[in-house]
Amino acid sequence: MEAMEVMVEADLHTHTVGSGHAFGTVMENVRAAHEKGLHALAITDHGPGMADGPRPYYFRNLHILPQSYMGVMILKGVEANIAGSDGSIDLPAEIARDLDIVIAGLHPACGIEGRGLDWNTQAMTAAIRNPLVDIIAHPGNPEYPVDFEACVLEATRYNKAIEINENSFFARPGSVERCVVVAKLCAQHGTLVSVASDAHSPWNVGEVSRALKLALDAGVRREQIVNASMDNLTRFLTMRRKRLEMWRR
Ligand SMILES: [Zn+2]
Ligand SMILES: [Zn+2]
Repeated sequence: MEAMEVMVEADLHTHTVGSGHAFGTVMENVRAAHEKGLHALAITDHGPGMADGPRPYYFRNLHILPQSYMGVMILKGVEANIAGSDGSIDLPAEIARDLDIVIAGLHPACGIEGRGLDWNTQAMTAAIRNPLVDIIAHPGNPEYPVDFEACVLEATRYNKAIEINENSFFARPGSVERCVVVAKLCAQHGTLVSVASDAHSPWNVGEVSRALKLALDAGVRREQIVNASMDNLTRFLTMRRKRLEMWRR
């Protein structure tokens, strides 16, 4: 099948040793991305709200990394923790706004346990409206149930991407069926989608084949997948820049 062979040109969710429980350096991850034929890689270590995540200054300092290496564009980002029902994230705005890409998600041990579906949905939809945020991480995670349709509709309205996370299929049991539902809603509403590895080691960088197949099988079109091509990615990054320019004023 054609669809199976369609690769992506970017991976927008990867962790380095900076996250404390991941195993690749930036350079090792970029090298892996190059070897797998990717043209762009986002470095998105966990936000400071996670106990072993890097401190805020780590993210402020990411700008010292080169724009690209071995032909791979290096996007400086974060996987921030959604920190409140107001959609706030655990990185100061003046740092987050200067990053190339911000993912936000609900995570354990960040003070939001056991709030339930209504609270989770309120927090996630508010995070989607947060101008600093571009992508919602693993909404299919059964640990944090949300109203999928409410989140997908909000993402559609605000041109934010919903993530289908390859790592969830292994690390978050029960995610596959839920991701199918999410992907079908994204297909139905024309929502932007990121198919991401969530790699915690260089070996997993660019490994998105199951997430990609799940999205395509659900009817998501390639044009909706922000990391499918460099053209799609450029459009997505331009939207972020314009949104934050407006926000600064
Ligand atoms: Zn995560
Ligand atoms: Zn992650």
